[in-house]
Amino acid sequence: TTPSPAPASNKRDLRSPICCILGHVDTGKTKLLDKIRQTNVQGGEAGGITQQIGATYFPIDAIKQKTAVMADYEKQTFDVPGLLVIDTPGHESFTNLRSRGSSLCNIAILVIDIMHGLEQQTIESIRLLRDRKAPFVVALNKIDRLYDWQATPNNSFRSSFEKQPRAVQQEFQTRLDGIKVALAEQGLNSELYFQNKNMAKYVSIVPTSAVTGEGVPDLLWLLLELTQKRMSKQLMYLSHIEATILEVKVVEGFGTTIDVILSNGYLREGDRIVLCGMNGPIVTTIRALLTPQPLRELRLKSEYVHHKEVKAALGVKIAANDLEKAVSGSRLLVVGPDDDEEEMMDDVMDDLTGLLDSVDTSGRGVVVQASTLGSLEALLDFLKDMKIPVMSIGLGPVYKRDVMKAAAMLEKAKELAVMLCFDVKVDKEAEQYADEQGIKIFNADIIYHLFDAFTAYQNKLLEQRRKDFLQDATFPCVLNTLQIINKRSPMIIGVDVMEGSLRMGTPICAVRTDPTTKEKNILLLGRVVGLEINHQAVSEVKKGQTAAGVAVRLEDPSGQQPIWGRHVDEKDTLYSLITRKSIDTLKDPAFRDQVARSDWLLLRKLKVVFGIE
Ligand code: GDP
Repeated sequence: TTPSPAPASNKRDLRSPICCILGHVDTGKTKLLDKIRQTNVQGGEAGGITQQIGATYFPIDAIKQKTAVMADYEKQTFDVPGLLVIDTPGHESFTNLRSRGSSLCNIAILVIDIMHGLEQQTIESIRLLRDRKAPFVVALNKIDRLYDWQATPNNSFRSSFEKQPRAVQQEFQTRLDGIKVALAEQGLNSELYFQNKNMAKYVSIVPTSAVTGEGVPDLLWLLLELTQKRMSKQLMYLSHIEATILEVKVVEGFGTTIDVILSNGYLREGDRIVLCGMNGPIVTTIRALLTPQPLRELRLKSEYVHHKEVKAALGVKIAANDLEKAVSGSRLLVVGPDDDEEEMMDDVMDDLTGLLDSVDTSGRGVVVQASTLGSLEALLDFLKDMKIPVMSIGLGPVYKRDVMKAAAMLEKAKELAVMLCFDVKVDKEAEQYADEQGIKIFNADIIYHLFDAFTAYQNKLLEQRRKDFLQDATFPCVLNTLQIINKRSPMIIGVDVMEGSLRMGTPICAVRTDPTTKEKNILLLGRVVGLEINHQAVSEVKKGQTAAGVAVRLEDPSGQQPIWGRHVDEKDTLYSLITRKSIDTLKDPAFRDQVARSDWLLLRKLKVVFGIE
């Protein structure tokens, strides 16, 4: 006997929506999943709740039981056959539930800890959900931790809330308001789900406790309500299949298998399938379709139940030949009688090659490597937002040849001679090579951590560059001499800043043009080693900053200073010494941000003064 894991017997013939759970670490994602999975029904198989591959299936009867306490508050409709909840919380499974850049997750739960509010991965999750246009609800979890919370296990939130002392209600409201403001800062309007009049514009918040089960009925009710009302089109059965690979795993007795979420259509034993492989398309035949043995059957020999045929939505393990190089996060296609296999092979590889559009064709950028197609795509989206160019992308473990790609940047832009690796193994030899060459490898399984480390590294390099090139970073200024305070050793003059800004370290000169040859004769007075306004030392003086004049102390270690009264005098306009090199230095990323528009305009004028082309 092969029980169909996802029976679809429904008047509108909708399939089960797929639900994913995301959020910061320790917000209670795992616990909430456990709580949802638990049943109030004594004994038996939890109202038909079945463990699948990578997911748990909730038939509508189980949901009816769990949401019964909602009847006092909301009308209930049950159009879908059930709900498929992905077992592994977090980004990884969410990003892999994808098809051509859109999400196969029909609805996501973003868990926020009511005591902690928005955290880093909350924000990263919001970004992901938004990029993939995935609808979601917020579970505001751990309400039982509000001081003096009076728990009624598995109750609806509203019923429990009415029973709380005034102070608890107030604390709840204060925290809720704070979190709504924080969400607004992320560009999200939000509202408690039962006060939400506009589900399309406002994200619904469901207060929950994964410990007491309060609010869990509300959450399930809302998931059903939203998917049924707003997405019935996506939930219609399709004639073609829609499936994505969550994981590639070696299983004893079966060899390399793929764990697949089938979100629409059927899969059958013997089906010819096409999928994306690391080194090219894979075409193979389904040898076995497997789901886990129900708990009570565990004494049976096999860990798995075999199926001749399965129907969406469900999680299933596929055993077949040649799956070793299969790429997680890529689509799986079934070759039908009229299909062109070659075309399908190109089609699945598009999942990978499509991402090459993000690669900078000028050959400038970082090298990116990720464990799965979904995480690679998420990382590329992120880098695009941050305007970090990408030179090359890859999947799977990092080997020396991957690091060698990054080495190409050592000459062009050292700050980009970097590998950003998301949740992958780095080979020993690769690591050693990177060390020798001075290539940084960043490896993390949280995008934010990766990005933070990379930004910190870039800043460090920029700081070093600033130090190295400070000598040549001359900011433009024009000075008028007001008085000569000391002619030589040290030369001190009182000046007025007519244009630009005068900084410590800047070389100051006068420019004479030979009347006949028109040649520029530059008379270097020295570098600024002291700046004072009213006997107060300053590091920089901008045009218009003071009416009192600035005392400038100039030093020229060469001892070739021109002589006041003979070579230069008060009538000479003084300038910071501008050269081709000094202009290029200011254009360097280390200084570019510090140069104002007015500085660039002044530089254009000074190029004429100095005769720079
Ligand atoms: P995850 O990292 O998001 O999967 O978080 P877990 O589910 O592992 O939960 C992290 C910790 O918070 C564990 O110690 C849980 O027992 C606790 N926890 C989770 N949900 C709740 C809740 O609703 N109330 C309370 N008091 N503790 C919770």
